[in-house]
Amino acid sequence: MAKGTINVQAENIFPIIKKFLYSEHEIFLRELVSNAVDATSKLKALQKMGEYDGELGDIKIEVSIDKKAGTLTISDKGIGMNQEEVEKYLNQVAFSGASEFLQKYEGKADDAGIIGNFGLGFYSAFMVSTKVDVVTRSYKSTDEKEAVIWSCDGNPEYTIEKTTKKGRGSDIVLHITDEDKEFLEENRIQGILDKFCKFLPVEIKFGTKTELVDNAKGKKDKDGKIEKVEVTVDKIINNPNPAWKKSPTELKDEDYKSFYRELYPMTFEEPLFNIHLNVDYPFNLTGVLYFPRLKDKFEFQKNKIQLYSNQVFITDSVENIVPEFLTLLHGVIDSPDIPLNVSRSYLQTDSNVKKIASHISNKLADMFKNDREDFQTKWDDIRIFIEYGMLTDEKFWDRIKDVYLFKNTKDEYYTIDEYRASIEENQKDKDGKIVHLYTSDKVAQHEYVAQAENRGYDVTIIDGALAAHMVQKFEQSLENVTFARVDADTIDKLIQKVDAPKSNLTEDQEKELKELIEGVVEKESYSVQFESLTEKDNPMVITQPEFMRRMKEQSMTGGGGMMGMGNMPDMYNLVVNVNHPLVSKMLIETDADKKGQLAKQAADLAKLSQGLLKGEALSNFIKRSVELID
Ligand code: ADP
Repeated sequence: MAKGTINVQAENIFPIIKKFLYSEHEIFLRELVSNAVDATSKLKALQKMGEYDGELGDIKIEVSIDKKAGTLTISDKGIGMNQEEVEKYLNQVAFSGASEFLQKYEGKADDAGIIGNFGLGFYSAFMVSTKVDVVTRSYKSTDEKEAVIWSCDGNPEYTIEKTTKKGRGSDIVLHITDEDKEFLEENRIQGILDKFCKFLPVEIKFGTKTELVDNAKGKKDKDGKIEKVEVTVDKIINNPNPAWKKSPTELKDEDYKSFYRELYPMTFEEPLFNIHLNVDYPFNLTGVLYFPRLKDKFEFQKNKIQLYSNQVFITDSVENIVPEFLTLLHGVIDSPDIPLNVSRSYLQTDSNVKKIASHISNKLADMFKNDREDFQTKWDDIRIFIEYGMLTDEKFWDRIKDVYLFKNTKDEYYTIDEYRASIEENQKDKDGKIVHLYTSDKVAQHEYVAQAENRGYDVTIIDGALAAHMVQKFEQSLENVTFARVDADTIDKLIQKVDAPKSNLTEDQEKELKELIEGVVEKESYSVQFESLTEKDNPMVITQPEFMRRMKEQSMTGGGGMMGMGNMPDMYNLVVNVNHPLVSKMLIETDADKKGQLAKQAADLAKLSQGLLKGEALSNFIKRSVELID
């Protein structure tokens, strides 16, 4: 038996490994299974190159638990190692990898969540083991007595000696510590394998299961059907050939959908469509991204994009790694250029990862060009992703703005340029600005939409949580266009073509009416104003100035606007139509009670049309209205 000491500095490495990665012990399994996959893939590659002419045979990797012995074993039938290689790779390569890692991250030990995403390679086995045995035999060896066993109990000393092993490959045997007994539980191991190894490229066996199959002799039962027999088969925990590794030409829509179900087994909603990423220059990246329907907010938050490196799961918390808007999508991104043991901050600045956004915008632009009709049917669902991308990524905005669509109240779709051309003539105000009218809710704002449409104006629908931000962005980016929600002012002031006619009331009359009306509404929320509308228009109209409302909405959804604006009460204008007969009636009325009642009724009607009359105020209004009919 030979003995050795791993390295002079090694005395402190094991306690550090244990302490350091305490909260993320489970990653040892990802590391060891990845090593087993590497060893197997190397053998396959050698065979392809003609450097190995033996049989590959069964190359399954096996993970097994022996509760009695207290061990967890990872076995592969890959290239294996001879004694020299064990000395070199386990004692030097693996060790230097581990110590380099520790030096790099030692100061950041408190950030366990971050550290946990990286591997320490082979030495992570010591996080959960009192002792590790490696029984290995090289693919080159023809004699089963040429195998070696390397053992290390976490001290820097190890032993290495000859042993016997039937086939080629390596068994990594972990003697699990008392504190880590959980790793001898089947469910726990199954869970870790599901998380990290679900799409590794070599089949991984974990236990067995029984299956019903046709009996071999073709014996039939009394109904003439072939009899089934129970057989025990290996339980394979992974799909070694996942959709994103295939060529898009091999896959049908149904294949993408079934892969989606494989990724998110608890999701029943189907994705809207997918984008297959297949880039090999200037960097290597594959993946399938799905645009989900946004109806179900819950699924939307639960299903996250998964980041893989050569089919090894790295993380699904990709915030700040991929462009922010991508976090709204589902699916898989795989790049061998994203190494396992790098820091999150490295990934964040990795330009390769950043380029994903440009591939997505290109694909969307293609979709638009190839089949605009189809693109339009998807638009309502994908709009939110595109808007999110446009707001958070300036370059994405540049690339996508030619395919962004405005939808109007008549369900017609226009690109930004088309829309401008369509309203340019009719919706220019006296200062030459093009006024883009929009509604956030064509049902709730029906009266205002109708007013605009009566003038022959077009109204688009800009709704959702990002509406205020988008409107702001459009105003900043498009030339000579202002945006106004239909209820932001009276229609002739929204698109002011001529100077507003003066109110025909005297100063005294205005003062009297103002006091009267201020007495029947909440003074702090409504500002009373006078305007010369037509006799047919309502006696009073409530509007909500564009700027204030927008600032408030922006600050409620984060970013933009002013801090704290979200808590401010809403401010409205109560516009009194001085040309309406009711106004003269209020002025003539001598009975103070009646006068007040007229004002109250007219103000309540205005509130009602903005959905602002609620609770007791609404009950009182109904009661008063009934009395008035009587
Ligand atoms: P890495 O895999 O990043 O190189 P590790 O510490 O995980 O670092 O492993 C060190 C080396 O040990 C590997 O590069 C490989 O040569 C060898 N090795 C580890 N596990 C196996 C295995 N199951 N079969 C063959 N060689 C292995």
